Amino acid sequence: MSVNEQMVQDMVKEVVARLQIDADVSGNAGVFKDMNEAIEAAKKAQKQVHALSMDQREKIISLIRKKTKENAEIIARMGVQETGMGNVGHKILKHHLVAEKTPGTEDITTTAWSGDRGLTLIEMGPFGVIGAITPSTNPSETVICNTIGMLAGGNTVVFNPHPSAIKTSIFAINMVNEASREAGGPDIIACTVEKPTLETSSIMMKHKDISLLVATGGTGVVTTVLSSGKRGIGAGAGNPPALVDETADVRKAAEDIVNGCTFDNNLPCIAEKEIVAVDSIADELMHYMVTEQGCYKISEEEQEKLTATVLTSKGLNRKCVGRSAKTLLSMIGVTVPDNIRCIVFEGEKEHPLIAEELMMPILGMVRAKDFDDAVEKAVWLEHGNRHSAHIHSKNVDNITKYAKAIDTAILVKNAPSYAALGFGGEGYCTFTIASRTGEGLTSASTFTKRRRCVMSDSLCIR
Ligand code: NAD
Repeated sequence: MSVNEQMVQDMVKEVVARLQIDADVSGNAGVFKDMNEAIEAAKKAQKQVHALSMDQREKIISLIRKKTKENAEIIARMGVQETGMGNVGHKILKHHLVAEKTPGTEDITTTAWSGDRGLTLIEMGPFGVIGAITPSTNPSETVICNTIGMLAGGNTVVFNPHPSAIKTSIFAINMVNEASREAGGPDIIACTVEKPTLETSSIMMKHKDISLLVATGGTGVVTTVLSSGKRGIGAGAGNPPALVDETADVRKAAEDIVNGCTFDNNLPCIAEKEIVAVDSIADELMHYMVTEQGCYKISEEEQEKLTATVLTSKGLNRKCVGRSAKTLLSMIGVTVPDNIRCIVFEGEKEHPLIAEELMMPILGMVRAKDFDDAVEKAVWLEHGNRHSAHIHSKNVDNITKYAKAIDTAILVKNAPSYAALGFGGEGYCTFTIASRTGEGLTSASTFTKRRRCVMSDSLCIR
Protein backbone atom coordinates (compact mmCIF):
# COMPACT_ATOMS: atom_id res chain seq x y z
CA MET A 1 0.00 0.00 0.00
CA SER A 2 1.37 3.45 -0.88
CA VAL A 3 1.73 6.16 1.73
CA ASN A 4 -1.07 8.16 0.13
CA GLU A 5 -3.53 5.27 0.33
CA GLN A 6 -2.60 4.79 3.98
CA MET A 7 -3.18 8.49 4.66
CA VAL A 8 -6.58 8.37 2.97
CA GLN A 9 -7.55 5.30 5.01
CA ASP A 10 -6.45 6.99 8.23
CA MET A 11 -8.46 10.09 7.37
CA VAL A 12 -11.54 7.97 6.66
CA LYS A 13 -11.16 6.28 10.06
CA GLU A 14 -10.83 9.67 11.76
CA VAL A 15 -13.99 10.89 10.07
CA VAL A 16 -15.88 7.71 11.00
CA ALA A 17 -14.72 8.09 14.61
CA ARG A 18 -15.87 11.73 14.66
CA LEU A 19 -19.25 10.84 13.18
CA GLN A 20 -19.66 8.08 15.75
CA ILE A 21 -18.89 10.54 18.54
CA ASP A 22 -21.46 13.04 17.30
CA ALA A 23 -24.05 10.41 16.53
CA ASP A 24 -23.88 8.42 19.71
CA VAL A 25 -23.96 10.86 22.57
CA SER A 26 -27.58 11.88 22.60
CA GLY A 27 -31.02 10.33 22.57
CA ASN A 28 -29.95 6.90 23.73
CA ALA A 29 -31.74 4.66 26.15
CA GLY A 30 -28.99 4.48 28.77
CA VAL A 31 -28.07 8.18 28.78
CA PHE A 32 -30.01 10.54 31.09
CA LYS A 33 -29.94 14.22 31.90
CA ASP A 34 -30.50 13.52 35.57
CA MET A 35 -28.63 11.07 37.82
CA ASN A 36 -31.78 10.19 39.79
CA GLU A 37 -33.52 9.18 36.55
CA ALA A 38 -30.53 7.08 35.53
CA ILE A 39 -30.60 5.25 38.85
CA GLU A 40 -34.36 4.69 38.63
CA ALA A 41 -33.99 3.18 35.14
CA ALA A 42 -31.13 0.96 36.31
CA LYS A 43 -33.25 -0.19 39.25
CA LYS A 44 -36.11 -1.25 36.97
CA ALA A 45 -33.71 -2.96 34.60
CA GLN A 46 -32.02 -4.84 37.43
CA LYS A 47 -35.27 -6.65 38.20
CA GLN A 48 -35.24 -7.90 34.60
CA VAL A 49 -31.56 -8.83 34.75
CA HIS A 50 -32.03 -10.77 37.97
CA ALA A 51 -34.80 -12.75 36.32
CA LEU A 52 -32.58 -13.77 33.41
CA SER A 53 -31.11 -17.25 33.45
CA MET A 54 -27.32 -17.50 33.62
CA ASP A 55 -27.46 -18.74 30.04
CA GLN A 56 -29.29 -15.58 28.93
CA ARG A 57 -26.80 -13.37 30.76
CA GLU A 58 -23.98 -15.21 29.02
CA LYS A 59 -25.60 -14.65 25.61
CA ILE A 60 -25.57 -10.89 26.23
CA ILE A 61 -21.95 -11.06 27.39
CA SER A 62 -20.96 -12.99 24.24
CA LEU A 63 -22.48 -10.25 22.12
CA ILE A 64 -20.69 -7.55 24.16
CA ARG A 65 -17.42 -9.39 23.47
CA LYS A 66 -18.19 -9.58 19.73
CA LYS A 67 -19.18 -5.92 19.45
CA THR A 68 -16.13 -4.83 21.44
CA LYS A 69 -13.85 -6.59 18.96
CA GLU A 70 -15.77 -5.23 15.95
CA ASN A 71 -15.62 -1.67 17.32
CA ALA A 72 -12.12 -1.87 18.83
CA GLU A 73 -10.52 0.45 16.32
CA ILE A 74 -13.32 3.03 16.36
CA ILE A 75 -13.38 3.17 20.18
CA ALA A 76 -9.58 3.30 20.33
CA ARG A 77 -9.49 6.25 17.91
CA MET A 78 -12.30 7.94 19.76
CA GLY A 79 -10.50 7.56 23.11
CA VAL A 80 -7.28 9.08 21.79
CA GLN A 81 -9.13 11.84 19.97
CA GLU A 82 -11.29 12.81 22.95
CA THR A 83 -8.73 12.59 25.76
CA GLY A 84 -5.56 13.35 23.77
CA MET A 85 -3.96 10.47 25.66
CA GLY A 86 -2.58 7.09 24.67
CA ASN A 87 -1.92 5.30 21.44
CA VAL A 88 -4.51 3.92 18.99
CA GLY A 89 -2.68 0.62 18.28
CA HIS A 90 -2.29 -0.23 21.95
CA LYS A 91 -5.87 0.80 22.75
CA ILE A 92 -7.08 -1.60 20.04
CA LEU A 93 -5.13 -4.39 21.77
CA LYS A 94 -6.64 -3.41 25.14
CA HIS A 95 -10.16 -3.72 23.73
CA HIS A 96 -9.42 -7.16 22.30
CA LEU A 97 -7.99 -8.16 25.66
CA VAL A 98 -11.03 -6.95 27.57
CA ALA A 99 -13.34 -8.71 25.09
CA GLU A 100 -11.53 -12.02 25.27
CA LYS A 101 -10.32 -12.32 28.85
CA THR A 102 -12.83 -10.59 31.15
CA PRO A 103 -14.57 -13.35 33.13
CA GLY A 104 -18.32 -13.81 32.60
CA THR A 105 -20.87 -16.04 34.32
CA GLU A 106 -18.34 -18.88 34.79
CA ASP A 107 -16.99 -16.78 37.64
CA ILE A 108 -20.27 -17.07 39.55
CA THR A 109 -19.93 -20.26 41.54
CA THR A 110 -21.56 -22.11 44.44
CA THR A 111 -19.94 -23.64 47.49
CA ALA A 112 -21.80 -26.57 49.06
CA TRP A 113 -21.69 -28.60 52.29
CA SER A 114 -23.74 -31.76 52.41
CA GLY A 115 -24.02 -34.04 55.44
CA ASP A 116 -26.22 -35.62 58.14
CA ARG A 117 -27.93 -32.29 58.89
CA GLY A 118 -28.83 -31.48 55.28
CA LEU A 119 -27.45 -29.25 52.56
CA THR A 120 -25.97 -25.76 52.83
CA LEU A 121 -24.97 -23.59 49.91
CA ILE A 122 -23.15 -20.30 49.61
CA GLU A 123 -24.38 -18.58 46.50
CA MET A 124 -23.21 -15.37 44.87
CA GLY A 125 -26.16 -13.01 44.60
CA PRO A 126 -26.35 -9.56 42.99
CA PHE A 127 -25.95 -6.37 44.98
CA GLY A 128 -28.59 -4.73 42.74
CA VAL A 129 -27.64 -1.40 41.18
CA ILE A 130 -23.92 -0.64 41.30
CA GLY A 131 -22.55 2.90 41.05
CA ALA A 132 -19.26 2.90 39.14
CA ILE A 133 -16.82 5.78 38.70
CA THR A 134 -14.42 5.34 35.80
CA PRO A 135 -11.12 6.96 34.79
CA SER A 136 -10.03 8.97 31.77
CA THR A 137 -7.04 6.71 31.19
CA ASN A 138 -8.92 3.50 30.22
CA PRO A 139 -12.46 4.88 29.83
CA SER A 140 -14.20 2.43 27.48
CA GLU A 141 -12.10 -0.54 28.62
CA THR A 142 -13.29 0.01 32.20
CA VAL A 143 -16.94 0.51 31.19
CA ILE A 144 -16.94 -2.72 29.16
CA CYS A 145 -15.01 -4.73 31.75
CA ASN A 146 -17.17 -3.53 34.65
CA THR A 147 -20.40 -4.13 32.73
CA ILE A 148 -19.48 -7.73 31.81
CA GLY A 149 -18.61 -8.61 35.41
CA MET A 150 -21.50 -6.75 36.99
CA LEU A 151 -24.06 -8.21 34.56
CA ALA A 152 -22.70 -11.74 35.07
CA GLY A 153 -23.35 -11.20 38.79
CA GLY A 154 -26.97 -10.14 38.11
CA ASN A 155 -26.49 -6.39 38.63
CA THR A 156 -27.08 -3.33 36.53
CA VAL A 157 -24.68 -0.39 36.67
CA VAL A 158 -24.83 3.40 36.66
CA PHE A 159 -21.59 5.00 35.52
CA ASN A 160 -20.27 8.42 36.45
CA PRO A 161 -17.42 8.52 33.90
CA HIS A 162 -14.56 11.00 33.86
CA PRO A 163 -15.95 14.16 32.16
CA SER A 164 -12.99 14.35 29.78
CA ALA A 165 -13.82 10.88 28.40
CA ILE A 166 -17.61 11.10 28.40
CA LYS A 167 -18.18 10.60 24.69
CA THR A 168 -16.02 7.50 24.54
CA SER A 169 -17.67 6.18 27.71
CA ILE A 170 -21.15 6.82 26.29
CA PHE A 171 -20.21 5.01 23.09
CA ALA A 172 -19.23 1.97 25.18
CA ILE A 173 -22.42 2.21 27.29
CA ASN A 174 -24.57 2.38 24.15
CA MET A 175 -22.72 -0.61 22.75
CA VAL A 176 -23.33 -2.85 25.79
CA ASN A 177 -27.01 -1.84 25.89
CA GLU A 178 -27.35 -2.59 22.19
CA ALA A 179 -25.83 -6.03 22.84
CA SER A 180 -28.41 -6.65 25.57
CA ARG A 181 -31.34 -5.67 23.35
CA GLU A 182 -30.09 -7.74 20.41
CA ALA A 183 -29.58 -10.76 22.65
CA GLY A 184 -33.15 -10.48 23.96
CA GLY A 185 -32.20 -8.86 27.29
CA PRO A 186 -33.37 -5.59 28.88
CA ASP A 187 -33.09 -2.32 26.94
CA ILE A 188 -30.66 -1.07 29.54
CA ILE A 189 -27.98 -2.88 31.52
CA ALA A 190 -25.75 0.19 31.99
CA CYS A 191 -26.71 3.87 32.37
CA THR A 192 -25.04 7.21 32.72
CA VAL A 193 -25.71 10.93 32.61
CA GLU A 194 -24.97 13.26 29.69
CA LYS A 195 -22.79 15.51 31.84
CA PRO A 196 -21.11 13.70 34.73
CA THR A 197 -19.83 16.03 37.45
CA LEU A 198 -18.76 15.81 41.07
CA GLU A 199 -22.38 16.67 41.91
CA THR A 200 -23.83 13.75 39.92
CA SER A 201 -21.29 11.43 41.54
CA SER A 202 -22.28 12.76 44.97
CA ILE A 203 -25.97 12.05 44.19
CA MET A 204 -24.96 8.54 43.16
CA MET A 205 -22.92 7.95 46.30
CA LYS A 206 -25.80 9.01 48.56
CA HIS A 207 -28.68 7.39 46.66
CA LYS A 208 -30.64 4.76 48.61
CA ASP A 209 -30.91 2.47 45.58
CA ILE A 210 -27.17 2.19 45.02
CA SER A 211 -25.94 -0.70 47.11
CA LEU A 212 -22.30 -0.93 46.03
CA LEU A 213 -19.83 1.69 44.80
CA VAL A 214 -16.86 0.84 42.62
CA ALA A 215 -14.25 3.56 42.12
CA THR A 216 -11.50 3.17 39.52
CA GLY A 217 -9.23 6.20 39.61
CA GLY A 218 -6.79 8.18 41.70
CA THR A 219 -6.44 8.45 45.46
CA GLY A 220 -9.01 11.26 45.81
CA VAL A 221 -11.97 9.43 44.31
CA VAL A 222 -11.22 6.22 46.20
CA THR A 223 -11.05 8.11 49.50
CA THR A 224 -14.34 9.87 48.69
CA VAL A 225 -16.08 6.57 47.90
CA LEU A 226 -14.71 4.91 51.02
CA SER A 227 -16.01 7.83 53.10
CA SER A 228 -19.51 7.56 51.64
CA GLY A 229 -20.94 5.23 54.25
CA LYS A 230 -21.72 2.62 51.58
CA ARG A 231 -19.82 -0.54 50.73
CA GLY A 232 -17.03 0.54 48.37
CA ILE A 233 -14.51 -1.21 46.17
CA GLY A 234 -11.51 1.06 45.74
CA ALA A 235 -9.24 0.63 42.72
CA GLY A 236 -6.77 3.41 43.31
CA ALA A 237 -3.47 4.88 42.19
CA GLY A 238 -0.17 3.06 41.88
CA ASN A 239 3.46 3.92 41.20
CA PRO A 240 4.89 0.54 40.23
CA PRO A 241 8.67 0.12 40.56
CA ALA A 242 10.52 -2.41 38.42
CA LEU A 243 13.38 -3.89 40.42
CA VAL A 244 16.31 -5.46 38.55
CA ASP A 245 18.84 -7.52 40.50
CA GLU A 246 22.24 -8.94 39.61
CA THR A 247 20.81 -12.36 38.61
CA ALA A 248 18.44 -10.96 35.97
CA ASP A 249 18.74 -11.44 32.23
CA VAL A 250 19.58 -7.74 31.95
CA ARG A 251 19.08 -7.43 28.20
CA LYS A 252 15.62 -9.02 28.41
CA ALA A 253 14.79 -6.92 31.50
CA ALA A 254 15.54 -3.76 29.48
CA GLU A 255 13.21 -4.93 26.70
CA ASP A 256 10.39 -6.03 29.05
CA ILE A 257 10.52 -2.88 31.16
CA VAL A 258 10.46 -0.52 28.18
CA ASN A 259 7.67 -2.53 26.49
CA GLY A 260 5.56 -2.37 29.67
CA CYS A 261 6.34 1.28 30.38
CA THR A 262 5.49 2.49 26.88
CA PHE A 263 2.27 0.47 26.46
CA ASP A 264 -0.50 3.00 25.70
CA ASN A 265 2.02 5.74 26.56
CA ASN A 266 2.22 4.51 30.18
CA LEU A 267 -1.48 5.06 30.96
CA PRO A 268 -2.18 1.68 32.63
CA CYS A 269 -2.00 1.96 36.42
CA ILE A 270 0.07 -1.25 36.47
CA ALA A 271 2.73 0.05 34.05
CA GLU A 272 6.36 0.40 35.13
CA LYS A 273 6.78 3.95 36.45
CA GLU A 274 10.43 3.77 37.61
CA ILE A 275 13.35 1.35 37.87
CA VAL A 276 15.40 0.35 40.89
CA ALA A 277 18.58 -1.40 39.74
CA VAL A 278 21.36 -2.89 41.83
CA ASP A 279 24.67 -1.18 41.24
CA SER A 280 26.46 -4.12 39.57
CA ILE A 281 24.06 -4.26 36.59
CA ALA A 282 22.71 -0.67 36.51
CA ASP A 283 25.05 0.59 33.77
CA GLU A 284 24.42 -2.48 31.61
CA LEU A 285 20.65 -2.02 31.95
CA MET A 286 20.88 1.64 30.94
CA HIS A 287 23.13 0.66 28.01
CA TYR A 288 20.57 -1.82 26.61
CA MET A 289 17.68 0.61 27.11
CA VAL A 290 19.47 3.33 25.18
CA THR A 291 21.13 1.25 22.46
CA GLU A 292 18.46 -1.40 21.80
CA GLN A 293 15.11 -0.23 23.19
CA GLY A 294 14.53 3.23 21.72
CA CYS A 295 15.21 5.18 24.91
CA TYR A 296 16.50 8.75 24.92
CA LYS A 297 18.68 9.61 27.93
CA ILE A 298 18.05 13.15 29.11
CA SER A 299 20.71 15.43 30.57
CA GLU A 300 20.36 17.13 33.96
CA GLU A 301 19.33 20.33 32.25
CA GLU A 302 16.66 18.47 30.26
CA GLN A 303 15.47 16.78 33.46
CA GLU A 304 14.87 20.20 34.99
CA LYS A 305 12.98 21.43 31.92
CA LEU A 306 10.90 18.25 31.79
CA THR A 307 10.08 18.47 35.51
CA ALA A 308 8.91 22.07 35.10
CA THR A 309 6.80 21.04 32.09
CA VAL A 310 5.08 17.91 33.37
CA LEU A 311 4.59 18.97 36.99
CA THR A 312 2.91 22.27 37.77
CA SER A 313 2.25 23.87 41.15
CA LYS A 314 -1.22 22.24 41.01
CA GLY A 315 0.20 18.78 40.29
CA LEU A 316 0.35 16.80 37.05
CA ASN A 317 0.10 18.76 33.81
CA ARG A 318 -2.79 16.88 32.18
CA LYS A 319 -1.55 17.99 28.76
CA CYS A 320 1.46 15.70 29.30
CA VAL A 321 -0.30 12.61 30.68
CA GLY A 322 -0.43 9.73 28.18
CA ARG A 323 1.64 11.59 25.58
CA SER A 324 4.43 9.88 23.61
CA ALA A 325 8.09 10.35 24.48
CA LYS A 326 8.58 12.26 21.22
CA THR A 327 5.77 14.70 22.09
CA LEU A 328 7.05 15.22 25.64
CA LEU A 329 10.56 15.87 24.35
CA SER A 330 9.25 18.32 21.76
CA MET A 331 7.66 20.27 24.64
CA ILE A 332 11.15 20.94 26.02
CA GLY A 333 12.60 21.73 22.61
CA VAL A 334 14.24 18.36 21.92
CA THR A 335 13.65 16.74 18.52
CA VAL A 336 14.12 12.98 18.28
CA PRO A 337 13.46 10.39 15.58
CA ASP A 338 10.23 8.35 15.54
CA ASN A 339 11.88 5.26 17.01
CA ILE A 340 12.37 6.98 20.38
CA ARG A 341 9.63 5.58 22.64
CA CYS A 342 10.84 6.26 26.18
CA ILE A 343 12.75 8.91 28.16
CA VAL A 344 15.33 7.63 30.66
CA PHE A 345 17.75 9.07 33.18
CA GLU A 346 19.40 8.16 36.48
CA GLY A 347 18.37 9.93 39.67
CA GLU A 348 17.67 9.71 43.39
CA LYS A 349 14.37 8.17 44.47
CA GLU A 350 13.13 11.58 45.65
CA HIS A 351 13.46 13.06 42.12
CA PRO A 352 9.95 14.33 41.25
CA LEU A 353 10.00 12.53 37.88
CA ILE A 354 10.65 9.30 39.78
CA ALA A 355 8.58 9.65 42.95
CA GLU A 356 5.39 10.93 41.26
CA GLU A 357 2.94 8.71 39.35
CA LEU A 358 3.28 10.48 35.98
CA MET A 359 1.52 8.14 33.50
CA MET A 360 4.03 9.17 30.81
CA PRO A 361 6.81 7.13 29.14
CA ILE A 362 9.47 8.55 31.47
CA LEU A 363 11.61 6.04 33.37
CA GLY A 364 13.96 7.25 36.04
CA MET A 365 16.47 4.67 37.27
CA VAL A 366 17.46 4.64 40.94
CA ARG A 367 20.73 2.89 41.76
CA ALA A 368 20.84 0.62 44.83
CA LYS A 369 24.00 -0.64 46.48
CA ASP A 370 22.63 -4.20 46.87
CA PHE A 371 19.37 -6.18 46.80
CA ASP A 372 18.20 -5.20 50.30
CA ASP A 373 18.79 -1.55 49.51
CA ALA A 374 16.86 -2.00 46.23
CA VAL A 375 13.87 -3.50 48.09
CA GLU A 376 13.87 -0.64 50.58
CA LYS A 377 13.92 1.95 47.79
CA ALA A 378 11.21 0.17 45.77
CA VAL A 379 8.92 -0.10 48.80
CA TRP A 380 9.38 3.62 49.45
CA LEU A 381 8.57 4.45 45.81
CA GLU A 382 5.38 2.37 45.83
CA HIS A 383 4.13 4.79 48.53
CA GLY A 384 2.08 2.12 50.33
CA ASN A 385 -0.46 1.99 47.49
CA ARG A 386 -0.16 -1.83 47.62
CA HIS A 387 -1.01 -1.74 43.90
CA SER A 388 1.63 -3.20 41.54
CA ALA A 389 5.33 -3.94 41.48
CA HIS A 390 7.61 -5.83 39.12
CA ILE A 391 10.92 -7.66 39.39
CA HIS A 392 13.53 -9.08 37.04
CA SER A 393 15.49 -11.75 38.90
CA LYS A 394 16.32 -15.43 38.74
CA ASN A 395 16.79 -15.74 42.48
CA VAL A 396 13.59 -17.09 44.06
CA ASP A 397 14.69 -16.05 47.53
CA ASN A 398 15.08 -12.47 46.32
CA ILE A 399 11.71 -12.58 44.58
CA THR A 400 10.03 -13.91 47.73
CA LYS A 401 11.66 -11.29 49.94
CA TYR A 402 10.53 -8.50 47.59
CA ALA A 403 6.99 -9.90 47.34
CA LYS A 404 6.61 -9.95 51.11
CA ALA A 405 8.10 -6.50 51.61
CA ILE A 406 6.15 -4.67 48.92
CA ASP A 407 2.81 -6.46 49.53
CA THR A 408 1.12 -5.39 46.29
CA ALA A 409 -1.99 -6.76 44.55
CA ILE A 410 0.18 -7.47 41.48
CA LEU A 411 3.80 -8.60 41.24
CA VAL A 412 5.05 -9.51 37.76
CA LYS A 413 8.29 -11.46 37.54
CA ASN A 414 10.49 -11.39 34.41
CA ALA A 415 7.89 -9.96 32.01
CA PRO A 416 6.36 -6.63 31.00
CA SER A 417 3.76 -5.32 33.49
CA TYR A 418 0.85 -6.07 31.14
CA ALA A 419 1.41 -9.82 31.68
CA ALA A 420 -0.56 -9.14 34.90
CA LEU A 421 -3.67 -8.46 32.79
CA GLY A 422 -3.35 -11.77 30.95
CA PHE A 423 -1.60 -10.09 27.99
CA GLY A 424 1.38 -12.39 27.44
CA GLY A 425 0.65 -13.96 30.84
CA GLU A 426 -1.78 -16.48 32.27
CA GLY A 427 -4.98 -15.45 33.99
CA TYR A 428 -7.98 -13.23 33.37
CA CYS A 429 -8.17 -9.54 32.55
CA THR A 430 -9.57 -6.63 34.49
CA PHE A 431 -9.26 -2.85 34.34
CA THR A 432 -10.35 -2.41 37.95
CA ILE A 433 -7.62 -3.51 40.35
CA ALA A 434 -8.91 -3.08 43.88
CA SER A 435 -5.60 -2.22 45.47
CA ARG A 436 -6.91 -0.13 48.38
CA THR A 437 -9.72 -2.42 49.52
CA GLY A 438 -7.97 -5.72 48.90
CA GLU A 439 -10.19 -7.53 46.38
CA GLY A 440 -7.26 -7.35 43.96
CA LEU A 441 -8.08 -8.03 40.31
CA THR A 442 -11.85 -7.72 40.23
CA SER A 443 -14.11 -10.10 38.31
CA ALA A 444 -17.82 -10.99 38.25
CA SER A 445 -17.69 -12.68 41.67
CA THR A 446 -16.30 -9.48 43.24
CA PHE A 447 -19.58 -7.74 42.37
CA THR A 448 -21.76 -10.24 44.25
CA LYS A 449 -22.69 -10.78 47.85
CA ARG A 450 -22.46 -14.13 49.56
CA ARG A 451 -25.81 -15.66 50.48
CA ARG A 452 -26.17 -18.80 52.58
CA CYS A 453 -28.97 -21.14 51.62
CA VAL A 454 -29.68 -23.87 54.21
CA MET A 455 -31.88 -26.96 53.82
CA SER A 456 -32.17 -28.66 57.19
CA ASP A 457 -32.14 -32.45 57.49
CA SER A 458 -32.95 -33.07 53.81
CA LEU A 459 -31.42 -33.27 50.34
CA CYS A 460 -28.33 -35.02 51.54
CA ILE A 461 -28.51 -38.13 49.40
CA ARG A 462 -25.22 -39.85 50.26
P1 NAD B 1 -8.98 10.64 38.44
O1 NAD B 1 -8.83 10.24 39.87
O2 NAD B 1 -8.69 12.03 38.04
O3 NAD B 1 -10.48 10.33 37.97
C1 NAD B 1 -11.07 9.07 38.13
C2 NAD B 1 -12.57 9.24 38.26
O4 NAD B 1 -12.88 9.79 39.52
C3 NAD B 1 -13.18 10.19 37.25
O5 NAD B 1 -14.46 9.73 36.86
C4 NAD B 1 -13.29 11.50 38.01
O6 NAD B 1 -14.29 12.32 37.51
C5 NAD B 1 -13.63 10.98 39.39
N1 NAD B 1 -13.28 11.79 40.54
C6 NAD B 1 -12.07 12.35 40.80
N2 NAD B 1 -12.10 12.95 42.01
C7 NAD B 1 -13.32 12.73 42.52
C8 NAD B 1 -13.96 13.08 43.75
N3 NAD B 1 -13.35 13.76 44.70
N4 NAD B 1 -15.24 12.67 43.93
C9 NAD B 1 -15.88 11.95 42.99
N5 NAD B 1 -15.34 11.60 41.82
C10 NAD B 1 -14.08 11.99 41.58
O7 NAD B 1 -8.11 9.60 37.61
P2 NAD B 1 -7.73 9.55 36.07
O8 NAD B 1 -6.69 10.53 35.78
O9 NAD B 1 -8.93 9.51 35.25
O10 NAD B 1 -7.08 8.11 36.09
C11 NAD B 1 -5.76 7.91 36.50
C12 NAD B 1 -5.65 7.49 37.94
O11 NAD B 1 -6.46 6.36 38.20
C13 NAD B 1 -4.24 7.07 38.30
O12 NAD B 1 -3.95 7.42 39.61
C14 NAD B 1 -4.28 5.55 38.12
O13 NAD B 1 -3.31 4.85 38.85
C15 NAD B 1 -5.67 5.26 38.64
N6 NAD B 1 -6.21 4.04 38.07
C16 NAD B 1 -6.33 2.96 38.87
C17 NAD B 1 -6.84 1.79 38.36
C18 NAD B 1 -6.96 0.56 39.20
O14 NAD B 1 -7.53 -0.42 38.71
N7 NAD B 1 -6.49 0.53 40.42
C19 NAD B 1 -7.23 1.71 37.02
C20 NAD B 1 -7.11 2.86 36.22
C21 NAD B 1 -6.60 4.04 36.77
